[in-house]
Amino acid sequence: MAAAKGENKLFDKILIANRGEIALRVQRACREMGIKTVVVHSEADRDAKYVRLADESVCIGPPPSAQSYLHVPAIIAAAEVTDAQAIHPGYGFLSENADFADKVERSGFVFIGPRAETIRLMGDKVSAKAVMLKAGIPCVPGSEGVLPEEPKEVVRIARGIGYPVIIKAAGGGGGRGMRVVHTEAALMPAVTLTRSEAQAAFGNPTVYMEKFLTNPRHIEIQMLADEHRNVVTLSERDCSMQRRHQKIIEEAPAPGINPRALTRIGERCVDACRKIGYRGAGTFEFLYDNGEFFFIEMNTRVQVEHPVTEAITGIDIVQQQILIAAGRRLAFRQRDVVRRGHAIECRINAEDPWSFVPSPGRITSWHPPGGPGIRVDSHAYQNYFVPPYYDSMIGKVIAYGDTREQAIARMRIALSEMIVEGIKTNIPLHQELLLDDKFLQGGTTIHFLEQRMAKRK
Ligand code: ADP
Repeated sequence: MAAAKGENKLFDKILIANRGEIALRVQRACREMGIKTVVVHSEADRDAKYVRLADESVCIGPPPSAQSYLHVPAIIAAAEVTDAQAIHPGYGFLSENADFADKVERSGFVFIGPRAETIRLMGDKVSAKAVMLKAGIPCVPGSEGVLPEEPKEVVRIARGIGYPVIIKAAGGGGGRGMRVVHTEAALMPAVTLTRSEAQAAFGNPTVYMEKFLTNPRHIEIQMLADEHRNVVTLSERDCSMQRRHQKIIEEAPAPGINPRALTRIGERCVDACRKIGYRGAGTFEFLYDNGEFFFIEMNTRVQVEHPVTEAITGIDIVQQQILIAAGRRLAFRQRDVVRRGHAIECRINAEDPWSFVPSPGRITSWHPPGGPGIRVDSHAYQNYFVPPYYDSMIGKVIAYGDTREQAIARMRIALSEMIVEGIKTNIPLHQELLLDDKFLQGGTTIHFLEQRMAKRK
């Protein structure tokens, strides 16, 4: 890909600081762009498919993430010895770690993501909300800022918001560090518990409070922003199908939402990105309730569910991240972003479909589906050993169709063809959900899945 005059040259070699399907996904983007890849891996991932496919690989430590995928000096050293020019952090692990981004850049590499200061700002959900409010983004009503120590004050704030409220860790992520409170009697114990959990999990005991919305949908908006103040929104996604705040099915577009309301909130997101000098791919997450959007957080990285947006826009989000990191201008404007059809993603997890207990182990039989409109992003293969140390997601099936009905029909066929043996997966749960009347209607709320599971028992 020849660089246009005055444009920065693309990278020769990128180091991928992640594992699993996203490591393979980033690698595919690089290969298509003629960029060499280095993957770092733990001893547990030595035999992974993407490790073998990479131009170079470096073992950075034993299986536990803290000693490998989170071990910054080992990753930087791997980039140094392989002469990589840039580092793609994927999602999870170090992707939203501002100190890592800083370290990468100070070591002379390009961090494929936003500036460290932006990550820091958005990584603290309290400062993120404050910035967003200032930038004109509507937020969930709550404590303005961090909850004070003084219990009387906390009680006063909760009364002001009205029960139920949710206590959230400022440094939280991955659906952890949150607690719903229905009564004043339960308030202070919940605050104390969430504080100590937050300290243990995120090294930061600060918590804040929000109104707990009882029937919202989770709607998020995918953004791309270059260094030259060009910002576009690609599409919204509906990620309401969740268990314990973890998404399992995502789709784009979000069914049944007024297009004008979406355009309006999209414009505000564009504005906010300009105001904070955002760079790279990013997502504004909202709760959508009674026709209104309420910001909850911004993810400053590529998301698991990015393929549904790629399917309906034809834009490769990972390649855009790389181009932006190389200093390129976005090659399209908002009016060039054309959305067509509908896409659904099912996250395939190695777990019991009904108890959700993780099910690591050897995959004895693996037959991924195919056919029109089907994309499978997975690092798994026949005889692959799913290690017990990491997230249980072993892949994603994405179905695209002209309409939502067609996407769902294709997904059903795909899952019926898919065979994974030797471990348990959540495919049976997906199959049940894909036949559920409420899901078929579209627009179920974030509590739908848990309520449904409770009834099933
Ligand atoms: P994380 O960073 O851990 O993903 P989020 O702030 O994005 O945390 O919230 C994750 C999920 O938790 C949301 O999708 C939603 O299901 C639930 N949630 C968060 N805040 C609220 C709220 N104020 N009311 C109701 N549900 C909420």
